[in-house]
Amino acid sequence: MSVLVATAAAVQELDADQRGALDACVVAALALSSSEGEATARARLLMECHGRYVRSFGVSDPAPQYPVFVKRLLGGRVADLLPRRPKESALGELQLLDENGVPSSALNRIAVEASEHGHQAPGIGADIRHLHSLLRAVGMLPESAGLTRICGETVQHAVFRALHAAGFEAYTRGREAMVCTPVLSRREVSRNVALTELGAYTAISPTRQFGGLWAACPLCRWTMRATYRLNGTVDLECEDERHSTLGARYRAEPGTDGWTLIPRGELRAVPELRPVEGHVALPYALWLWVTLPGLLEVELRDRLVAMEAEVRLWPFGDAYDLHVTLPGRSRKWRIDVKTWADPYGLAQQLRENPDELGDLCFVVPEHLRTYLPVLRRGVQGTAARVLTETDLLAEVRKG
Ligand SMILES: [Zn+2]
Repeated sequence: MSVLVATAAAVQELDADQRGALDACVVAALALSSSEGEATARARLLMECHGRYVRSFGVSDPAPQYPVFVKRLLGGRVADLLPRRPKESALGELQLLDENGVPSSALNRIAVEASEHGHQAPGIGADIRHLHSLLRAVGMLPESAGLTRICGETVQHAVFRALHAAGFEAYTRGREAMVCTPVLSRREVSRNVALTELGAYTAISPTRQFGGLWAACPLCRWTMRATYRLNGTVDLECEDERHSTLGARYRAEPGTDGWTLIPRGELRAVPELRPVEGHVALPYALWLWVTLPGLLEVELRDRLVAMEAEVRLWPFGDAYDLHVTLPGRSRKWRIDVKTWADPYGLAQQLRENPDELGDLCFVVPEHLRTYLPVLRRGVQGTAARVLTETDLLAEVRKG
């Protein structure tokens, strides 16, 4: 069972000091695991992080000294790094770095979702700064706003509203491109006016390229993360924990004719290596909150249509994702797909649009089933429901 999907919920359960300490640990872990920029700047950032970390402990509960702090970041569990060690938290099993300093898939995710200082970090920092400027450009992030928390709902709302302003056709086309083609050539993106104006695509992150090349995950088509190994090979892996488990994992080996990709998982098909030059990609947060749920939205549409349901995908701007009816029946489903477990985000979304969203069905992937109780807390007292994809398909089949 993945512990990663519940991070947003688990982080919200922390107190302010614990969250401050987590933020310092996340940025420090990013600085430790990156080779970007100057070594002295990274060392300075690490010391700053330790300073913030110590302050979050207060006087009665002394924080670990700098060498211990760094040692614990390597292979230590997140919960063990925080003041008053939170018990029974989903963070308990989570690591930021492994013992060799290789980032876990949790690290970038927490940096985006829960870090006030993530934009300073090497690697994902550039993605976060891009996201902030995009949100600011569409009026979703006031100049002076604290950057504590960017939730999936906020980002989706901002992006879809901005696309919608360009008209329904441009909206559908832009949203479809962000789902089906999270990496585009610069020429392709320039042909899509709405996407160009939104500035959704940006240069491929240094953390997801090697030797001027990148490779797409066969499952989501986004750039896989590239980690250099000491022996000169490069590990490529989709940032999505599930895609990686399903086999989106390769090793790139250098040779006289360039790089060769070798599968490390069940997927035997080897993706093509493409040049970084001339390509642009969605930043991490847009891939996480637009591409990944979009893949499930499109899949649900196809499966519902195969059951003879009538389905409209992305029917009314950003209100919800699928409108489903059955021929000759009065029952309808208004579905909003969520691929992350964030009860607070659901609650916020319901608060912002109480009228539109009355009997909305939030649908989560089957692997989030164990989070149904916590997600249902987010919609308590409303007419909205939370179902897994399997539950929804069974319900529609019954009619
Ligand atoms: Zn993937």
